[in-house]
Amino acid sequence: MLGGSFLLPMPSSQRLAAIQCIQERPALEFPPIAPLSELWASDVFDLAKMKSSLPKDIFKSVQKTIKEGGKLDVSVANVVAQAMKDWAVGRGALYYAHVFYPLTNSTAEKHDGFISTQSDGSAICEFTGKVLVQGEPDGSSFPNGGIRSTFEARGYTAWDITSPAFLMETPNGITLCVPTVFVSWTGEALDKKTPLLRSNAAMNKQAQRLLKLLGNTEVAPVNSSCGAEQEYFLVDSAFVTLRPDLLLAGRTLFGHPSAKGQQFDDHYFGAIPQRVQVFMQDVERQMYKLGIPAKTRHNEVAPGQFEIAPFFEAANVATDHQQLTMTLLKNTARRHGMNCLLHEKPFAGINGSGKHVNWSVGNGTQGNLLDPGSSPEENMQFLLFCGAVIRGVHLYGPLLRAVVATAGNDHRLGANEAPPAIISMYLGSQLEEVYTMIKNGNLGSTDHGGLMQLGVDTLPEFLKDPGDRNRTSPFAFTGNRFEFRAVGSNQSVAGPLVAMNTILADSLKYMSDELEAKMGAGASLETAAAEVLQTIMQQHGNVVFGGDGYSSEWHEMAVSERGLENLPTTADALLVLERDDIKALFERTGVLTQVELHSRFEVYAEQYVLAVEVEAKLVLQMARTQVYPAVMTYLGQLANSLHYQETLGLPPDRAMAGRIATLNQELLANCVALESALASPPHGETAHMRHCVDTLLPLMYKIREAVDGLETLVDDNAWPLPTYQEMLFIK
Ligand code: ADP
Ligand code: MG
Repeated sequence: MLGGSFLLPMPSSQRLAAIQCIQERPALEFPPIAPLSELWASDVFDLAKMKSSLPKDIFKSVQKTIKEGGKLDVSVANVVAQAMKDWAVGRGALYYAHVFYPLTNSTAEKHDGFISTQSDGSAICEFTGKVLVQGEPDGSSFPNGGIRSTFEARGYTAWDITSPAFLMETPNGITLCVPTVFVSWTGEALDKKTPLLRSNAAMNKQAQRLLKLLGNTEVAPVNSSCGAEQEYFLVDSAFVTLRPDLLLAGRTLFGHPSAKGQQFDDHYFGAIPQRVQVFMQDVERQMYKLGIPAKTRHNEVAPGQFEIAPFFEAANVATDHQQLTMTLLKNTARRHGMNCLLHEKPFAGINGSGKHVNWSVGNGTQGNLLDPGSSPEENMQFLLFCGAVIRGVHLYGPLLRAVVATAGNDHRLGANEAPPAIISMYLGSQLEEVYTMIKNGNLGSTDHGGLMQLGVDTLPEFLKDPGDRNRTSPFAFTGNRFEFRAVGSNQSVAGPLVAMNTILADSLKYMSDELEAKMGAGASLETAAAEVLQTIMQQHGNVVFGGDGYSSEWHEMAVSERGLENLPTTADALLVLERDDIKALFERTGVLTQVELHSRFEVYAEQYVLAVEVEAKLVLQMARTQVYPAVMTYLGQLANSLHYQETLGLPPDRAMAGRIATLNQELLANCVALESALASPPHGETAHMRHCVDTLLPLMYKIREAVDGLETLVDDNAWPLPTYQEMLFIK
């Protein structure tokens, strides 16, 4: 036997080990699928379970509170808590958690045991109504933007009874989860759910008013709905552990594009890889048990990218379910040996991930209020509600931009794969034509033959043709709802929904005020409605755009001719939250006080800065401790072989070594610059955000250019980081 170890040439040993680990992963079986009737909502303490476990009068009282809002009476809450606990304990839960949604886009939970010890030393499971409806996590370390100082750190969680309790099953046990709002002891919203509930109430109030003005006598509460399409990437965990950037920042900070990317369009809607389909079914099965209506799944445009979309639900419940979906995707992927990347731009050069938020408003008596419908009355109702959205999107486009502003989403918006950072609105050619006629006071006829008179004729059927699509618009009408496409894949949908509900509430109020005044002065409903819509289109029609939102002509025209704002980065967009018109909007609709709004600006600005700074630190760490040593080792080897060539009398070609050395120097010099820029940030959120955009990110990009160049020149055996090719194509 020869002594010592014998090293074979190989892709860097750690990359090879990762690839071997992936190849040796046992093939996962499709999980056995139980019938939907057995799975559906089996882990939810829903109305059906309440009905069967609660006394009739208690159940009625719960139903009433759900319908009308408000708090549960303590005596009712006690009975509900008891039944809920019995059900959960019967299923094996020993703990319960108040789940809440802080301003970080994540989900937070504080676990407490049901256990209560008795004077005789025995222990029982206990859960009272008081504990069900109100918890008190020590929220001092949740971002609150200055609302609370630590000495008064108490925050309260309170059950949002419109969102049912459920069991969260993990390999570590079962927990009863109660969805809650999270407020400070002075009542300020510290979370994303409270404003969402308030915005819905504000929208409902104004929608009721308008519907009654339109002659409806019976008007059920109006609720907003949401269906969110979630895009994500899957990468094997063996690669992720070798990439500090993916591990900590969720995106690659270095990486030369793979020779084959998405240019063949062969991934989009292609056959789902077996391993991924097993994963998807596992996720969907868990979603069904939690009463989340998973509906569609498919491959997305980029290699390794996928999408899941549920059937739409009431916005509040959909938002909780969306958070749960993100959690399930991440946790389940880990069990399948993969990481689910929800970042908006995990890989440069291929598509990033978004979250299309489909949104509408409606109720049990009038139905979907953004559905053109088929009768003259529905037609006028639709044109008014849709007109209200047009006004809102024009007046508050910058707000819609602000609520999708994150460090991750900045890499995606405006990058020719996602909508631009200019908020415009797409209606489809037929509907755009209708509104143009309204604007011109010319409702007589359309090119499409039909007589179109407000409240007299019906809208042409083809309006509902979903084929009439424009994928380049950030805000598009899609037949019976709007689709807000600029939302980032990693974001909570609450912020966008709050913005949409609030601007609609504001526009509906404007409309009702105008209609009341005009009708009070003797105008007929039809005339008044036509006049209001005409004014809206004259003042706000500029926001409607049916052309190519990716084109440079639009970027030019939107700003110079249409007067729309282009807010390219988070540093530009978040400032919108500090504007007077936005403060006034939230204040008069009762959705956010000035203090609450300002706290959001502070928290989001801080999150942005933290995200960029974490990435900057990672860039330094990886460039200096992973890339630089590999490059130096390889340069040493090159020098040796060039020297050897010379001793053989062969002319040495030093060009390659020269290119590598030059890039290496650029890398080092920019690292020094980045390090010093990181060490001396300016004071104040606004200046700090600008520092990120103007100084840190460009330096990080320069270092990336050097590293990605080096990746194409340095010996593959020496390269320490899993490559794009490996991460995107080895499954
Ligand atoms: P596409 O990819 O063509 O945009 P999908 O079928 O993937 O369409 O997603 C459409 C989403 O819109 C689904 O989640 C669907 O439930 C949702 N949706 C449909 N109608 C409404 C509505 N009235 N309100 C909110 N969301 C809706
Ligand atoms: Mg869509």
